[in-house]
Amino acid sequence: MSHENSSSQDAPPAAPARHFIHEIIAGHVQAGRYGGRVGTRFPPEPNGYLHIGHAKSICLNFGLAREFGGTCNLRMDDTNPTREDVEYVDSIRHDVQWLIEGWAEDSLTLKKVGDASGAGVSGKNRGGTPLEPFYASDYFPQIYEFAVELIRKGKAYVCDLSPEDTERYRGSPDRPGQDSPFRDRSAEESLALFQRMRAGEFPDSARTLRARIDMSSPNIWLRDPVLYRIRHTEHHHTGKQWCLYPMYDFAHCLSDYIEGVTHSICTLEFEVHRPLYDWILEALRLPRELPRQYEFARLNLGYTVMSKRKLLQLVQDRIVTGWDDPRMPTISGLRRRGYPAEAIRHFCELIGVTKFNGLTDASLLEFAVRENLNKRANRVMAVLRPLKVVIENYEDSRVEMMEAVNNPEDPSAGTRNVPFSKTIYIEQDDFMETPAKKFYRLFPGHEVRLRYAYILKCVAVEKDATGRVVELRCTIDPDSKAGGATAGRKIKATIHWVSAAHALASEVRLYDRLFTVEHPDAQAGGDFKSFLNPKSLEVITDCRLESSLKEAQPGQRFQFERLGYFCVDSKESAPGKPVFNRTATLRDAWAKERQKTG
Ligand code: ATP
Ligand code: MG
Repeated sequence: MSHENSSSQDAPPAAPARHFIHEIIAGHVQAGRYGGRVGTRFPPEPNGYLHIGHAKSICLNFGLAREFGGTCNLRMDDTNPTREDVEYVDSIRHDVQWLIEGWAEDSLTLKKVGDASGAGVSGKNRGGTPLEPFYASDYFPQIYEFAVELIRKGKAYVCDLSPEDTERYRGSPDRPGQDSPFRDRSAEESLALFQRMRAGEFPDSARTLRARIDMSSPNIWLRDPVLYRIRHTEHHHTGKQWCLYPMYDFAHCLSDYIEGVTHSICTLEFEVHRPLYDWILEALRLPRELPRQYEFARLNLGYTVMSKRKLLQLVQDRIVTGWDDPRMPTISGLRRRGYPAEAIRHFCELIGVTKFNGLTDASLLEFAVRENLNKRANRVMAVLRPLKVVIENYEDSRVEMMEAVNNPEDPSAGTRNVPFSKTIYIEQDDFMETPAKKFYRLFPGHEVRLRYAYILKCVAVEKDATGRVVELRCTIDPDSKAGGATAGRKIKATIHWVSAAHALASEVRLYDRLFTVEHPDAQAGGDFKSFLNPKSLEVITDCRLESSLKEAQPGQRFQFERLGYFCVDSKESAPGKPVFNRTATLRDAWAKERQKTG
């Protein structure tokens, strides 16, 4: 299944996703650039969990590697020790593994154990868990040597300006910068200071290493950017080895080079950094062909926020239960909610890759999920808000097994037997004492068809002291079962049910969008948290589910007939006591809403 790319070297790739980056790479492969080799990477900073936007980048980078028979490195972009943590490293490994499993895992390059150089990497990940990522911090020794080399070449200097003054001297896009008073420092002096910086002789922020480029450049990133800063902080991967950390711009291009990346693909906000990316690599006069950076538009998705900083706020303020709360747009949240990896990949294919920033309709993701689950999720009957029905003309002790189709979209899924008995539960919504116009389900004196079973008629209603309907008295037409004499009678509505004696009592959680507005980030004068959807979670504790669900396993997905797709929560279910998360409704409930608001 995952070996379709094996012939891609001799045949033109069978390409599902044609886009401008694809064109560029195909051109390079044809022209023999990089010896015809394609190397990409996915470089998250371990300062939060991955979200659906990262999924776009993962699918793009691994997809290209897969298609061109190349490799894709998972690299922790861990140059900022103050915000990073191993919890994030572990979640990223797990999430990437999950997303590419059975699809592009052959393209994932495995770090050789004990090899911190990045060179000589050739092993491939064979689906073994957990995958071993690369770490930019493993290259700190090499990156340091590259910095020394730049100083020697007169292309970098140690600067003693405070962070505030560095900022002030830099100017702004419409105002040229001003040279630092330390700009003319000799290579010898800078080298000596740089070594002392490394040795820990100076406090945080006392000095920086800066590239000597052009303080009057219209591109502010070329105004002698800082390459190294002092931080006396322990690092989650390198421990106490360093008190000097490279900046993103310096570490990133060099990590790409060290790993032999050919196409370094990132989001559009890095377009302005590209001249610096090229400057650093060119200034070092490196022997191998240089990687190049390409930019695409990031994914913005409606009715949610995506920046890790904001997602962290939701976690810290306990607005959600954690990074993997099923309402979160994180990969772990979507997984826990029941979104299949395949559906997320399909969504990433549907949105395409362009250079234009826009807002993607949240219902497109839900569409991809529905389409996928429709094909693979078995149908079951589940009553979320039970109303008791006693069938007067059915023997007390009788139990019949009704044959039910597991998945009409997939004959190989077979059938199962669902027990039927005298007392059943139906959905409260499927009964109205005084039927509204066009209500064709159950009401006194009226008939409805029970899925896989009989035609049912309501003959009496029982109420409690407050007048609430608590039980229905009904009869069945005994010949109306499938194959029976009256099975073909015209009945307008069919409803689902479960046998009371056999049912599994269970908790079901209904999730809805986290925000009430499509673009919570961009609301005038508003903090994004003031647009939270108060109804994003509804917990129903007393649902009655078909007995076959007693065996449901964590993560397993189902269609509850007429209600939606649900999966067994992987965290809070106990053996024999599954808790269900609603993955998606059967139809797009927000479509009407959108039409109303235009
Ligand atoms: P955030 O802004 O959400 O904190 P980030 O860009 O800082 O995200 P990184 O960990 O640096 O997160 O991202 C790793 C890779 O994923 C980068 O190459 C980045 O360009 C890409 N990426 C991040 N967000 C998106 C997105 N919304 N759409 C597509 N790619 C993204
Ligand atoms: Mg980032």
